[in-house]
Amino acid sequence: MEYLDLSLYEYRRFPIPMRSVGWLGPRFGVQGGGGQDLGAADRQRIRDASQRLGSVTLGTHECAFCPPNSAFEGNGEYRYYGRSGDVYVAPMMILHYMEEHGYRPPEEFLDGLKDIGRLEWDWRAERMLAVLLDESEDFDFRCEAIIDLVNWKDGRVLDALMHSIQDEELVDSAGDEIGRSLGVLVARGDVGDLRVESLPEMVRIGLGQIVPQ
Ligand SMILES: [Zn+2]
Repeated sequence: MEYLDLSLYEYRRFPIPMRSVGWLGPRFGVQGGGGQDLGAADRQRIRDASQRLGSVTLGTHECAFCPPNSAFEGNGEYRYYGRSGDVYVAPMMILHYMEEHGYRPPEEFLDGLKDIGRLEWDWRAERMLAVLLDESEDFDFRCEAIIDLVNWKDGRVLDALMHSIQDEELVDSAGDEIGRSLGVLVARGDVGDLRVESLPEMVRIGLGQIVPQ
């Protein structure tokens, strides 16, 4: 898959409109290169913001710029929720493109990363919350909402995650993601009293990956 930077993401359906960053390929080459290197601070911000992969059920992508027989492969995507209201989505390979092939993401994306992590509860959060809680919603949407809701620091997120544990189908398919999201909340001190032993096994496994029990 190859898209121009900042174009509307249309690789697959998603509950919120997003813009593409770093979907590089042979047609447009290493976009944004231009010889201007990324500074250490920008690199670190990108790494820090690229921690949690979503949509890992997507197929694997092979780097078009590595030698054919030893090309780097990636799977899944990172999503970045800016305070401006924009959402950017990059393939897992964005870090490889940056480190190995001189890729420089667009300026507005780099600027947006500077104040990531301090989001106000907004329409995007409302949308993701509604998606997760609505059993009639697209199942894949609900699984992605489990991942992305932790971008907001708000009690409604913990409530929604605990509610999703009652949903057998969600636990079967995305119990580990529920656990990892709970782990994020635990790690930042948003959970008072979590009775770990009462959680389904898959949820406990995911939780243990973020906060070892
Ligand atoms: Zn490569």
